Amino acid sequence: MPRHWIDELADNLYEKLLKRKKEVYIFNGGLSVSGLQHVGRLRGEIIIPEVLRRILSKKGLKIKQYITLYTQDAWKGKKAQLSAFPNHKEAEKYKGWPLINVPDPHGCHKNWVEHYWEDFGPYLEEFTDGKIEVVTTTDLYRGKLLEFALKTLEIREKVRKTINKYRGRKPYPENWIPFESICGKCGRIDSTEALEIIDHDKVRYRCRNCGYIGVTDLSNGKLNWRIEWVGVWWSLGVDFEPYGKDHATPGGSRDSCVDLAVNVYGIEPPEGIPYEWVAMRTKDKKILDMTSSGFIGFTPREWLEVAHPHIYRFIVLRTPPMKKIIVSLYEIPHYYSQYYKAERIYYGLEKAKNEEEEVLLKRSYELSYPKGEPPKSPPEQVSYTHLAILSQILPRELWRTEGIKRLINTKIIPENPSQYGLQRILETLEKANTWVEKYAPENMKFQLLPEPKPEIVKTIPEKHRIILRKMKELLEQIDEWNDENIKNAMIAATKDLTMNERKMLYENFYKLIIGKTSGPRAAPLLALLGKENSLKYFKYV
Ligand SMILES: [Zn+2]
Ligand SMILES: [Zn+2]
Repeated sequence: MPRHWIDELADNLYEKLLKRKKEVYIFNGGLSVSGLQHVGRLRGEIIIPEVLRRILSKKGLKIKQYITLYTQDAWKGKKAQLSAFPNHKEAEKYKGWPLINVPDPHGCHKNWVEHYWEDFGPYLEEFTDGKIEVVTTTDLYRGKLLEFALKTLEIREKVRKTINKYRGRKPYPENWIPFESICGKCGRIDSTEALEIIDHDKVRYRCRNCGYIGVTDLSNGKLNWRIEWVGVWWSLGVDFEPYGKDHATPGGSRDSCVDLAVNVYGIEPPEGIPYEWVAMRTKDKKILDMTSSGFIGFTPREWLEVAHPHIYRFIVLRTPPMKKIIVSLYEIPHYYSQYYKAERIYYGLEKAKNEEEEVLLKRSYELSYPKGEPPKSPPEQVSYTHLAILSQILPRELWRTEGIKRLINTKIIPENPSQYGLQRILETLEKANTWVEKYAPENMKFQLLPEPKPEIVKTIPEKHRIILRKMKELLEQIDEWNDENIKNAMIAATKDLTMNERKMLYENFYKLIIGKTSGPRAAPLLALLGKENSLKYFKYV
């Protein structure tokens, strides 16, 4: 039997962790809040470790999961970052400041970090089981990381020699002090050079930017990034941490940090796995890698407006970690179809192509639940598109009553839907309605004409009116008002038309009902309208 990649990873990790013989194992992920906190960041640093934690917890391991925000990192002042401020020119002065000190461009939060965390952090609760603790390097430098920094200054020669192995032609000079203070005058953290250590726990530094010379303690700055990474492992006692593929190259940053950890600090570096980025497809089908400081992507908050967290988790889980994921808010209905298919396979209602696909889809579906497990019996499925249509046919206050009734009447769902299924339908109605507003193609957006309009009928040529009358007649004969029967009636009514004529006929059909020449597929539209309501639009033909 083939296994899901996450289970293989979990097995492997289980063996390795056991050798560490710890009471509690620490999982960590790292993020730099340099701008837009996009959904791509959920993949490797949050969802993959969360799922592994849950699998391994079931096997009896105690695991604590962190996400570390690198809030002391310098704000680079890239074009997109500057553009976040109303006055780009003025924002130049924050270049090189630690992210945590850069003001909120919109003025609604304490600083840059808190502003951009707002569309991400609070939603971790929904995308995961919520058992993830957030720490910042700013806070760590007031505790464990400060201790680590002191230790680093003591053994800095050894540190330097190890790092220089990876620096090629730009080795750090002798007496290098790997600490970057925040300049007491201009506020930059990326332009100071430590000159000497004073009393073991302070440094005198000079700022290359403004020339200022000052003395500060080690909580007011940061360690060189490679050392800092090891420092986070050391401070939290990290046993597992995935890393982006850019860190994965042999002799690259991960390797150099592992070298430092083992040979200089004498700690066991965390186990890890590399992962690929998440890209997005734009409205005009361009594929762009999501980037935080480049402000390309969309946030977890934006995802939840139009789709369940399950769907995103499912996409992450069915894709091996080193394969690129491309997501698009414009393709949400398609993701729901794929998810529903996996759901049917999970409950044995449908067969997968082969055993491999079966395992991949079943297990990805099972693990797609942010909390708990799938319900015992298969929940009712209503296509996203149907709900997008229904949400436009009925006013919101009728969704729960008349909306559900129509789904039952058209046999899309059974008489007594399950609690979970019903809940999911109502939530999806809300999401699909937002999706229509923000991302749907024009033909999906419509407004029903309140009444059939004779003046519209007058614009329809007689040859089409004949067919529409035929259509009306066939629709009237339908006993069970559902997609299938409606579709058959429509086909029967238009079977003698050429492709082109049929297209023109449908333009008139849509004009009758929604006053414009295109709309969502006719069968679900009429089905959800109900028989009586549908036929009323044929009144004057
Ligand atoms: Zn704000
Ligand atoms: Zn300065």
